[in-house]
Amino acid sequence: MLKLQKLEIIKQESVAPGHQRLTLAKGINALAGQFVHVRVSETYDPFLRRPISVHDCTEGRLVLLYRTVGRGTELLAAKKAGETLDLLGPLGNSFPLTDRPQAVVVAGGIGAAPLYYLLRSLKLAGKQVSFFYGARNEAELILRDEYRALVANYSEATDDGSAGTRALVTHLAAPVIAGLDATVYACGPSPMLKEVARLADCYGRSCFVSLEAQLACGVGACLGCVVPVKGREKYRRVCVDGPVFAAGEVFFC
Ligand SMILES: Cc1cc2nc3c(=O)[nH]c(=O)nc-3n(C[C@H](O)[C@H](O)[C@H](O)COP(=O)(O)OP(=O)(O)OC[C@H]3O[C@@H](n4cnc5c(N)ncnc54)[C@H](O)[C@@H]3O)c2cc1C
Repeated sequence: MLKLQKLEIIKQESVAPGHQRLTLAKGINALAGQFVHVRVSETYDPFLRRPISVHDCTEGRLVLLYRTVGRGTELLAAKKAGETLDLLGPLGNSFPLTDRPQAVVVAGGIGAAPLYYLLRSLKLAGKQVSFFYGARNEAELILRDEYRALVANYSEATDDGSAGTRALVTHLAAPVIAGLDATVYACGPSPMLKEVARLADCYGRSCFVSLEAQLACGVGACLGCVVPVKGREKYRRVCVDGPVFAAGEVFFC
């Protein structure tokens, strides 16, 4: 159920340069793929909340993982343990689990954030998971040991070759998507999602992608986050119809 509430910050950690992990006392039951809309300031400046995916959700805690890219996330990073955080959520839909026993999960950069909870959910469901983690460089492959611990097969790709294979992460994932009758999941930059969607379509795999958009209200009213889709509807809202979409439904630019 959607809730507006203030949760206590238990821990605010820097997990890599420019990347924070925020642990909150649990007050929200969220599924993998959902997000919360965070009020980053006590004032109305900045006016809009900031959407952050649920990185993990357990009995006692709700965890967010975020990159500081601008004023909103910098204000969020300045918050300390013991303070409270005003949250609206959980919002959006979640990653569906299918009857396929195998899954291929592809992450690009901070797109890995919601996939941690997905990997944990897939593991709990007994799925055999191949995880492909791509980033610009080694420093941006954050929490890699924690991701590695959840999966049967773990592969890394970086643009500069500082860790894993020097390649696009989709190049690593392509032969596995081709050869394995698995459900494919992805979150990351749009060109990466477009290529994952193309590969999944080419080999007839079910594929689900989590999209980002500039998002204002978060509850479907403002229509600021629409993305073009195939079919009669033409557009769908990332905040309430997504952020997870069947890859075949989306028009990637
Ligand atoms: C459903 C959803 C889930 C998200 N989950 C996470 C997450 O788990 N971790 C994380 O680090 N980030 C996540 N984001 C992106 C995050 O919301 C933006 O980085 C954040 O709003 C930037 O706010 P800012 O004030 O720090 O930066 P701003 O100063 O507002 O912007 C800095 C830069 O970020 C871009 N930006 C701003 N808002 C968004 C947005 N909503 N989507 C994409 N780009 C944006 C701007 O174009 C600009 O280039 C998510 C976005 C969506 C829509």
